[in-house]
Amino acid sequence: MRYEVGGVEADKLHEECGVFGIYAPGRDVAQLTYYALYALQHRGQESAGIAVSDGKSIKCEKGVGLVAEVFQDTDKFKQLQGNMAVGHVRYATDTSELLINAQPLLVRYRNGHLAIAHNGNLINSRQLRSQLESKGSIFQATTDSEIIAHLIARSGETEIVQAIKKSLPYLRGAYTYIIMTPEKLVGIRDPYGIRPLSLGKMANGYVLSSETCAFDTVGAEFVRDIEPGELIIIDENGLHSERFAPTMRQALCAFEYIYFARPDSNLHGRNVHLVRKRLGRRLAQEHPVEADVVTGVPDSSLSAASGVAEQLGLPYEMGFIKNRYIGRTFIQPTAEIRALGVQLKLNAVRQIVEGKRVVIVDDSIIRGTTSVRIVKMLRHAGAKEVHVLITSPPVTAPCYYGINTSSQSELIAARMSVEEIRKTIDADYLGFLSEEGLLECINLPKDGFCTACFSGRYPIAPDNYALDKER
Ligand code: SF4
Repeated sequence: MRYEVGGVEADKLHEECGVFGIYAPGRDVAQLTYYALYALQHRGQESAGIAVSDGKSIKCEKGVGLVAEVFQDTDKFKQLQGNMAVGHVRYATDTSELLINAQPLLVRYRNGHLAIAHNGNLINSRQLRSQLESKGSIFQATTDSEIIAHLIARSGETEIVQAIKKSLPYLRGAYTYIIMTPEKLVGIRDPYGIRPLSLGKMANGYVLSSETCAFDTVGAEFVRDIEPGELIIIDENGLHSERFAPTMRQALCAFEYIYFARPDSNLHGRNVHLVRKRLGRRLAQEHPVEADVVTGVPDSSLSAASGVAEQLGLPYEMGFIKNRYIGRTFIQPTAEIRALGVQLKLNAVRQIVEGKRVVIVDDSIIRGTTSVRIVKMLRHAGAKEVHVLITSPPVTAPCYYGINTSSQSELIAARMSVEEIRKTIDADYLGFLSEEGLLECINLPKDGFCTACFSGRYPIAPDNYALDKER
């Protein structure tokens, strides 16, 4: 079981992965991918890897830990020489198979080599896996990511793009893939576009990334988002786009805006920081609490907290300080150690909150354990009143598309009313953003993104396996 210090992260939704690909002959593609993975580190901290193609073969280095830990031995870059690369950072819910599930996956089959980086979750993975196993496929990893490799190998097509196109219709769920052969880089986004993937351009080449913040890091310019159901091929002939499926509907994960993406990224042309500020303003309109000071839970709620403060006409202060040097830590889940951990990771600033009516802004309440601790910390630091404002609607349903939500029985908002939650976390006031408010702030068509974990409207109906796992 995985616990980070204090359980603060354990009580959050978690993005599963970040992917990056680069085609840039003449550039140091491994180093550029390394920097890009730094920019995407918030999307996964359990493993990291880079595969590089020199036009003939593919070499891969990957390991368990943060990007800096996996590549601290700079000798690893000596063998990563080539014209294109693919990189991956992974968040893991199950830490028992970290290394075997680390990506990119390197696959050798009769038509050549592939490196595969995957983000998302297939809702029909169990059926596909057992069908493939019954035909003799042997799986090494425990994740969904290997399924596409077996489908490609069994497609009967010798040309890779044809093989991929023949394989994709079997997949149901949320996925982005970056697949690299010795000669081509291929970017794929599922027909609903649940997970993000963007295209950038740089001198001598192109890049693909889960988030645009990685473009700034490597000096690339944003070109456009990959369309749902689109397949992008980058090789010596330049850039080529094909459709492998019609766009079913845009269903980008709404939590990318609320929490997952970095504030300096843009999704569908909207800057994440500015969207979060709008969420904060709207939240304050919906819940015009009387208070003295506004603060946010670092880091994901700071943009929204500044919007709340602006709207309420109150000072915005750093009421919490986050220790950035703790890193990933696995500790025994004793109550005593977890309680101590909260104070290691987050600390309330007494001089800011003492004697004040404090508004604390957070992005979500999942199990409620973090909110309990945060309110307690503020009270312990002398806050007179604690008003909790949340920039998402109550999370009442699990995610089947690659986000690690707790099971439905653990979701506090699935079991309790807002008033009951308020009492449980010991807040003087608790307010959630309405779904309508969220949709208006993101300013995309209402059915332009997935809101299933708070609306229960799943863009792709979960299959029996996904439901079984939930039970
Ligand atoms: S269910 Fe929630 S977390 Fe999952 S993709 Fe949809 S909005 Fe995102």
